[in-house]
Amino acid sequence: MVDRVNHLPYFYGSITRDEAESFLKQAGMADGLYLLRQSRNYLGGFALSVAYDNKCHHYTIEKKISGDYLIAGGKSHKSPVDICEYHAEETDGLVCLLKKPCNRPSGIQPKSGPFEDLKDHLVREYVQQTWNLQGDALEQAIISQKPQLEKLIATTAHERMPWFHGKRSRDEAERCMLRGSRTNGTFLIRDRDDKGSYALCLIHEGKIYHYRIDRDKAGKLSIPEGKKFDTLWQMVDHYCYKSDGLLQVLTEPCLNPDHPIDSFGLTPAPPIPSNHPRHKGEGGIFSRIKSSSFPKSGFPRKKSTMNDRSVSTTNLNPYIPRPNKQAGGAEGGARRDAMPMDTNVYESPYADPDELQGKTLYLKTDCLILEEKELGSGNFGTVKKGIYKMRKKDINVAVKVLKSNDPAVKDELMKEADFMHQLDNPYIVRMIGICERECLMLVMELAEQGQLNKFLMAHKDISLNNIVELVHQVSMGMKYLEEKNYVHRDLAARNVLLVTQHYAKISDFGLSKAVNSEENYYKAKSTGKWPIKWYAPESINYFRFSSKSDVWSFGVMMWEAFSYGHKPYKGMKGQEVVQMIEAGQRLDSPARCPIEMFELMQECWTYKAIDRPGFVTVEHRLREYYYTISKG
Ligand code: AMP
Repeated sequence: MVDRVNHLPYFYGSITRDEAESFLKQAGMADGLYLLRQSRNYLGGFALSVAYDNKCHHYTIEKKISGDYLIAGGKSHKSPVDICEYHAEETDGLVCLLKKPCNRPSGIQPKSGPFEDLKDHLVREYVQQTWNLQGDALEQAIISQKPQLEKLIATTAHERMPWFHGKRSRDEAERCMLRGSRTNGTFLIRDRDDKGSYALCLIHEGKIYHYRIDRDKAGKLSIPEGKKFDTLWQMVDHYCYKSDGLLQVLTEPCLNPDHPIDSFGLTPAPPIPSNHPRHKGEGGIFSRIKSSSFPKSGFPRKKSTMNDRSVSTTNLNPYIPRPNKQAGGAEGGARRDAMPMDTNVYESPYADPDELQGKTLYLKTDCLILEEKELGSGNFGTVKKGIYKMRKKDINVAVKVLKSNDPAVKDELMKEADFMHQLDNPYIVRMIGICERECLMLVMELAEQGQLNKFLMAHKDISLNNIVELVHQVSMGMKYLEEKNYVHRDLAARNVLLVTQHYAKISDFGLSKAVNSEENYYKAKSTGKWPIKWYAPESINYFRFSSKSDVWSFGVMMWEAFSYGHKPYKGMKGQEVVQMIEAGQRLDSPARCPIEMFELMQECWTYKAIDRPGFVTVEHRLREYYYTISKG
């Protein structure tokens, strides 16, 4: 949202009350003159400053978990801009109507908050530490989960601030403070208990004062009778500028002697334990945050210990409840939605070098246990759930069991296996290997929540944000395929499988091909049992398949997702759809689809492949939109 309001001429970013008043004064203080600024105490919140009767009046605009904004006691609105527009017509509790925006003087840009500059660094470090990811896996985790990670980091960033002393006792804190210069305003913050309360220690006139920092039921922090804040760093930032009930403003941090300061002015995170190259980092600076931010009710954690032979839980709860407060309220033990990196299928099981050593295309038959449970069926046969015993761990798998031993059918499955064997991406179902018993079997990663269209049909309450998140992940997987010069040729919501409600993977590579790098497309020799409703005109007319024709299918898959699993072109025959497309008509927008997403679908359905965007563009558009609607 900050991104969306950043361009508003009357938005000033993270300025203080005093600065807001001085801008309003410069602009004449006419009644109803107003400006918008970023809240300095509530994450994702704003503040409205209004001139009336030669005085400035300030209103906090809070962001609710639902994503709506409101001034306490007022109506909910979709954005802070809507609030301003509403109060231009109705006072509804405000001192007067909003009459004229106080635009930024020329050359003044919205001011970024103290956290903005550190965010990227902290997010990267957090992902490295928590999931021990490197290279592409690290980059892809950050790209797909940036909004969630930023929220998580915001509430825990104080742990890296030099003024934060963690579990230091009152006496130790005093000794630490007295060792320094004893300048007025020297301060530190320490933990008081495990329930998320803290203490602020402050030097004033040579004496040390201790203030309790309590956390209320909503998770907000405050000194007794003081202003409330979402985070400690916002509190420190505020009291550095205003004493506001303290004996004096905070001036100098009393540095935590246990931690040196890095080039970002932060206390560096300790190194990840190095006893095993793929051992997931436990015990780092973020470990306390990580464990306490998971649901208390035995949320399945990624198994990482060596020689752990319990079956790894690929899948988390089928339907993980929405957090009951803003994700990342770590100290309060708040729930957060599972991220792809929390599952066992984010990285290949062969990312562990010990497992990689034992990797073969043909798997040992006695290491595969098939369960009765059928996950689905396709042209080749059935897909069953199973357990595959690897060297160090047992993993849940999906096994495609061939129904016939016809050499032609076997050949088809081997082609699919060969193709999948070359792919390794978090947003694509990976193949573990082939197993041959009475019938040939393709062993794959398990995506237990099944097909996207069916899942959405059964969960109509899923938010549009959630759908954008999933569709964006599919675009990341498709971008990877495009980079490798492969075409999927059967991209549809039925072939997008869900690991969790927040984690999608592309599956079914039965029709996939490598494209001729010179011509940039694959030419089919003849037509087959084709999913015509998902196919681009050039595929139907000239049998040409390229990443651009996959983009057309992606548009149809998006339409299915935003219509919560409905069938596209319902009631129409393939030939009628072809005529409709040739006549320049396209699918209508699904009922609840955001206009930005429908516009993107329409671009995916550009008639000429050459004018159609590629997956680099599609992914980028989805990423931007996803960040915009999720940020606050
Ligand atoms: P397919 O023959 O690949 O279309 O698979 C048939 C059905 O089996 C799919 O529509 C899914 O419902 C299920 N299925 C296939 N692969 C998996 C997997 N890796 N994890 C879970 N279910 C799967």
